[in-house]
Amino acid sequence: MKNIYFTAGPAELYPRFEEFVKQAVDEQIGSISHRSGQFRKIYQHCVENLRVLMNIPETSGIFFTGSASEVWERILLNMVEHESFHLVNGSFSDKFYKYAGSLNKFAHKQEKPIGEGFSYAEVEVPEYAELICTTQNETSTGVQMREADIHKLKRSNQKRFVAVDMVSSAPIPELDLDLIDTAFFSVQKAFGLPAGLGVWIANEKCLDKSKKLAKQDGTHIGAHHTLPALWKNYETFETPATPNVMGIYLLGKVAEDMNKTGIDTIRKETDEKARKIYKYLETSSLCSIAVTNPEHRSRTVIVANTNKPSKVIIEALKEKNMILGSGYGPNKDSQIRISNFPSNTPEQVDNLLKELKKLE
Ligand SMILES: *Cc1c(COP(=O)(O)O)cnc(C)c1O
Repeated sequence: MKNIYFTAGPAELYPRFEEFVKQAVDEQIGSISHRSGQFRKIYQHCVENLRVLMNIPETSGIFFTGSASEVWERILLNMVEHESFHLVNGSFSDKFYKYAGSLNKFAHKQEKPIGEGFSYAEVEVPEYAELICTTQNETSTGVQMREADIHKLKRSNQKRFVAVDMVSSAPIPELDLDLIDTAFFSVQKAFGLPAGLGVWIANEKCLDKSKKLAKQDGTHIGAHHTLPALWKNYETFETPATPNVMGIYLLGKVAEDMNKTGIDTIRKETDEKARKIYKYLETSSLCSIAVTNPEHRSRTVIVANTNKPSKVIIEALKEKNMILGSGYGPNKDSQIRISNFPSNTPEQVDNLLKELKKLE
């Protein structure tokens, strides 16, 4: 019997994954040149479908990297001369912050205790911060920053860049990418694909800044995957280095398939499943909702405090071929994490809740 993965990433694969892989094998994708017309069509197909799915403006570039954490470094190198500012409320947002320090940027942070999130009104941006880094969905704590708050943050900071880590939620958030300068994700979370591909979306203002920094004495924008190099190649649907062609092909197929369903339908279904899971947790004697403020509760990675060691619940569900995530870091033994991605069907969620009830 196959396992059903409710893990936050790598996660349950997209239902048509196997079919798409077979098509890739039939088309001999693994052997084609990344300078060929065949590859350029694959890149273009992927980009066009992502544009529709996530409403990405034509003027923004869409680039492929090795992973999402690579994009943390790219953004900091290409868009920050001196100072960045980070909203930190868990392990991933903290790592983004720490990357900035490692790159010798002057990194500021505003920090929240585990399980709490940010609303626009409480954010205090330091005077000289050039870039504000937000994590739409903090995977380690199950806390989200609502789209409206992120939008307000940008509107009130027009002269600064806003970067959004939407790694474990894209394409679910309805982020206004006309407004937000740059955002990124990887494919092993809500897109239900094997890991090994990061996607970076950036507007022309980001490109201008990186070009300006590149010309300046004493500032380095790096050697690998600089924004000007990625952008120049993207103009002909190519990449500076040999990319993960298979990953790009599969992402294009999944995005196309999601477009057939329609993003509104996918978002509605995600909300509906999240509502059911939270409703169950509200009355469960086994576990409870970890994020107190309903506005900050993630739609795609749901975290619960457990009344017995999380291991006990995780092991019991494993017997039923359902794989849950443990808590992250210090909460490993006291929390479980349940992914609610498009690949986790309503039926799978119902079955999971049934099994959790049996353990009460
Ligand atoms: C998983 C994750 C990352 C890192 O993605 P990689 O593909 O492992 O580089 C970054 N941010 C968040 C919020 C994540 O969930």
